[in-house]
Amino acid sequence: MKIHEFQARQLLADAGIPVPPGTMVTSAADARRAAESIFGAGGRLVVVKAQVHAGGRGKAGFVKLVKSPEEAFEAATFMLGNRMVSPQTPPEGLEVRRLLVAEAVDIEREFYVAITVDRARRTNTLIASAEGGVEIEHVAATRPDAIIRVPLHPVDGLAPFQARDAAMALGLRGKPLVQATDVMLRLAATFRKLDASLLEINPLVLMPGTAEHPQGRISAVDAKCTFDDNALFRHKSIAELFDPSEENPAELHAAEHGLSYVALDGNIGCLVNGAGLAMSTMDIISLHGASPANFLDVGGSASEEAVAEAFRIILSDSKVKGVLVNIFGGIMQCDRIARAIVGAAETVGFKVPLVVRLEGTNVDEARRILEAARERIPMMQAATDLTDAADRITRAVA
Ligand code: GDP
Ligand code: MN
Repeated sequence: MKIHEFQARQLLADAGIPVPPGTMVTSAADARRAAESIFGAGGRLVVVKAQVHAGGRGKAGFVKLVKSPEEAFEAATFMLGNRMVSPQTPPEGLEVRRLLVAEAVDIEREFYVAITVDRARRTNTLIASAEGGVEIEHVAATRPDAIIRVPLHPVDGLAPFQARDAAMALGLRGKPLVQATDVMLRLAATFRKLDASLLEINPLVLMPGTAEHPQGRISAVDAKCTFDDNALFRHKSIAELFDPSEENPAELHAAEHGLSYVALDGNIGCLVNGAGLAMSTMDIISLHGASPANFLDVGGSASEEAVAEAFRIILSDSKVKGVLVNIFGGIMQCDRIARAIVGAAETVGFKVPLVVRLEGTNVDEARRILEAARERIPMMQAATDLTDAADRITRAVA
């Protein structure tokens, strides 16, 4: 589960990490008011930031530094009125419903610091770079040596000496070195405590020296947090941060019916039981030169209503030019799927080709049901096996 930057900043602040204070707003008028109070308190520069579950906002024009409440109003009007498109969003972009208005900090240097799971090494890992900021993806791709990776001990987590070494490698010295070390240790402890899968600060900034802090100060200017869904049951306060408006509505709807549904880019809708079979169905569609419109696993125990709902979800996707049903009935009974197909044909209507491959429990009964409904579902073809099914559906949509 992802959360917004304003929520992530609060989490980090609660963990004792220095974060510039800010306010979440949902209208341009409130953005102006929030900016007014920052300028009123002596702030010289304010930053307005779109709150969406994707990065790359800076380059997309959805992080703006402003010098007056009026400019904050204009930046907010632009962000709330336009979809944000970045390499991390779908091509049509994301609607912006929330903004963060915060006092901007002066930046001397930008670092990248994150804790995440390194699956290749099978351990949690600290990742840091002296070249943080909006170019980090480019740095990682072109100069992997500029990225520091420190494996965390499975029980003890990040050791103080490891954090200190990393902060040294970032080129920090003096008080900022101590502060950055502390930030990394707190980040690692929070990662563990909250069952996170990613806690990322980019940029972690070094502010220029002032009379009060001659060596400069460390501050977390952007934060991204992702949590392990399977552990949310033991973190109520995190689960409450869930923002359904940032999720794909079809995926949310499917989850409410106990279906595992993931929308994809292709044009063949798939209804399958079991994640493994769903994966191999997607593979065989790709092998035949087409691509799946979704991943949908109805599981073993879905009711006829839930399966009918699954068809409704698949058929409501305008990208779907054909539907492939691939069921290996073990716990799931084929006749239940057959009834749901007939039901969906009546209530939703198949306007696209449908290929059905059924095998396993109650398959004879299922075939009888489909045969009896054949006239009402003329676009339906029965497949003998998985290869035949993939072949039929790819030819039907070609
Ligand atoms: P992202 O592009 O979605 O990762 O958004 P960020 O919050 O990381 O902002 C992008 C860039 O905007 C940062 O790398 C900074 O260079 C700049 N920026 C963001 N906040 C501030 C701020 O408070 N002060 C200054 N001077 N620059 C900022
Ligand atoms: Mn960032």
